[in-house]
Amino acid sequence: MRGLMMDTPLLVSSIAEHAEKFHPDREIVSVTMDNPLHRCTIADVMTRARQLGAALAKLGLKQGDRVATIAWNDFRHLEIYYGVSGMGYVCHTINPRLFPEQLVFIINHAEDRWIFTDVMFVPLLEKLLPQIGNVEGFVVMTDEANMPETSLPNAVCYETLIGAESADLEWPQFDERTASALCYTSGTTGDPKGVLYDHRSTVLHAYVSLAPDVIGLSSRDTILPVVPLFHVNAWGIPYSAMMAGAKLVLPGPKMGDGEALYNLIESEGVHMAAGVPTVWLGLLQYCEQAGKRLDALERTLVGGAAVPRAMIQAFRDKHDVETVQGWGMTEMSPLGVTNTLKAGLEGLSADEKLDLATKAGRGLYGCELRIVDDEGNELPWDGVAYGALQVRGPWVCSDYFKLDGSAGTHTDDGWFETGDVATIDKQGYLAITDRTKDVIKSGGEWISSIELENTAMGHPAVAEAAVIGISHPKWTERPLLVVVRAEGQDLDKDEMLAYFDGKVASWWVPTDVAFVDELPHTATGKVKKIELRKQFADYAFPED
Ligand code: AMP
Repeated sequence: MRGLMMDTPLLVSSIAEHAEKFHPDREIVSVTMDNPLHRCTIADVMTRARQLGAALAKLGLKQGDRVATIAWNDFRHLEIYYGVSGMGYVCHTINPRLFPEQLVFIINHAEDRWIFTDVMFVPLLEKLLPQIGNVEGFVVMTDEANMPETSLPNAVCYETLIGAESADLEWPQFDERTASALCYTSGTTGDPKGVLYDHRSTVLHAYVSLAPDVIGLSSRDTILPVVPLFHVNAWGIPYSAMMAGAKLVLPGPKMGDGEALYNLIESEGVHMAAGVPTVWLGLLQYCEQAGKRLDALERTLVGGAAVPRAMIQAFRDKHDVETVQGWGMTEMSPLGVTNTLKAGLEGLSADEKLDLATKAGRGLYGCELRIVDDEGNELPWDGVAYGALQVRGPWVCSDYFKLDGSAGTHTDDGWFETGDVATIDKQGYLAITDRTKDVIKSGGEWISSIELENTAMGHPAVAEAAVIGISHPKWTERPLLVVVRAEGQDLDKDEMLAYFDGKVASWWVPTDVAFVDELPHTATGKVKKIELRKQFADYAFPED
């Protein structure tokens, strides 16, 4: 027997309608390319999103057509999220930090019809133009006063495009399984792969992320997503914040600027900020050097890479800020686990709580987890057994755009292979130990590069650290620690290695340390291990 409940589709436009009705006056503050501090309201953004929807329809777009953005986090980008998806078109966010060949590949593979761009990316697109000839036109996200001269075909100024339209549009209704957004993962091998979200997955993911043990956003909160709108939809915050009616602070091109982030947090009363560890390193360094304390901030949501213990401790002890670690992937919209304290664990000591906080987090409703060995057998949740991590759920991708199952990333019984290696403890807390490709095997035993990196980063003279496996005549592979010293510090190899004493098993201690000025990073701020391995391709351990 079927139930007798209404069948209203879960559409991105329903978030826009809700936000506009219940939280019209909530503020959205943006740093934009043409205004250091732009202020508007949810009502303004949603009105303009409808004007944009009308303008796009006039350009002849059809349901399913891809409309790309290449832009920082600001109110116009948010309007495009709603204007494009709300109409049934697909909002394809592009990471401007990718290599030109990757950008060309992505734009052509996605068959983007129009591209919305920040002024600063106009020269980049002009250079790519000969290779992206199928794009019909470009919208420059500014007003007429700041519109640059450009050779881009059919270039139109954003404010002019939407200014010509009325806001009477009613959002069309369609199947909730319709594609809403597209984001390519900047894979470390092969061509980037497109993850195609739908309206249903997006709304469900936003719903779940609002729960207190997940992101825990309410209408009383102010949130600063420093994670870019082009990186897995800024972890869904553009949707969840509008669903909750939270005040949104968007840092525009100031993502990597510790001082600018500090000023935004304090002046706008930001309670909660979200970003990858590298971003917070910059902010914490700025606070340390300038003698500043983060008074407004209560919580940071940190993910995208392992969060060093020292960072969680600095936030806690110096700024009274709680760190909520999260783990997920572009393929997972992205949330898979978040790290909050479970009932029964309140009595842990401060140090034990810190240890727990370095784990990626525990399962949230809607994303199933399992770890398996090389034969695909499920492993126990004892915090010791490690294996390939697989996930399943309504906001996990079932395939990649136009790859028709050829990526080989799904098991026969319908689970997605994350490519991460993990342990899960009795309480259900997941710890990521490595990427499958980064695992270091020494004498047949496995060493966690992430744990060594986290330990090294606990040393006050270390700014950043990465560990790679280097071939070794006796042990097959041994860990090499690559360190960037903190400014003005003179750390040497012996002191660095002595720091591991008592913190990790003695046979895990890296065999050697290499000091470098900087580590290579991916477009999303993670250490690029492939590049690092190339850099150290000719390296050999010193003979004992
Ligand atoms: P992306 O799709 O670019 O967001 O990258 C996803 C990958 O980032 C995951 O598969 C992990 O390897 C890594 N990652 C994300 N969050 C964490 C975390 N909390 N700890 C360790 N690695 C993480």
